[in-house]
Amino acid sequence: MKILVTNDDGIYADGLWALVKELRDVGTVTVVAPDREQSGVGTSVTLHQPLRLGKTKPLLKRVDTYSVEGTPADSVILALKFAMRDRADLVVSGINEGANLGNDVFISGTVGAALQGYFYGIPAIAISVAAFEGFHFDVAARLARLLASGIGDGALTQKLLLNVNLPNLPREKIEGIEITKLGERKYADRIEQRHDGRRQYYWIVHGESQWNISPGSDIWALKQNRISITPLPNNPDSSNRHFLNGLALKLSQELLDNNLLK
Ligand code: MN
Repeated sequence: MKILVTNDDGIYADGLWALVKELRDVGTVTVVAPDREQSGVGTSVTLHQPLRLGKTKPLLKRVDTYSVEGTPADSVILALKFAMRDRADLVVSGINEGANLGNDVFISGTVGAALQGYFYGIPAIAISVAAFEGFHFDVAARLARLLASGIGDGALTQKLLLNVNLPNLPREKIEGIEITKLGERKYADRIEQRHDGRRQYYWIVHGESQWNISPGSDIWALKQNRISITPLPNNPDSSNRHFLNGLALKLSQELLDNNLLK
């Protein structure tokens, strides 16, 4: 089994190498990751400047390792095409330093990388630990290994995108695992206005977030010291078919009335 490991925290982040250490027991691991931190770049793909892919020194022996001057999604694209030559069976992105819950999945570079793998028809897992310091990566890495084995054995479907979050706890304090849906968060980011002596500039500072902690959501699981596994993108609550069908009908009628649609 050939496994691509990537992240958005940069190629020498501890979380990535904690993953590699476990995953190399279930397959051949190739690391292709951004050369610097890219948290928050989401699914961004670089289209307006050249991309570079360079072989670099691994932190664990005998692991093919490449750094990319680009985004996490760029890293996956270059990895699949060049570093792994279309022979990847699984993409694992992480272990991210910080949770990626609810709305975060739309801006997360960790999830963005996994999503790119999914676009290419490869099973993909994004995995994050809910903390900003003093990380417990061991359970996350172990879980990634179990999921990778499930994919290797054919126990999990090939069309798979999982967003996994763990409470930052030692294994004896973790209360269990929940299969969840995306939670909801109200952003309370603070936008600071500053002056550099010549011009005004702005700085987006993550503030305290307000969560709607509905049972069955990812944030709900973490609040109970449980691991959350959210299958994406088929979150049943993310589409409102009834409304959208009505809207499609209405718009079609308007277009017909105006002879814009034949
Ligand atoms: Mn990150």
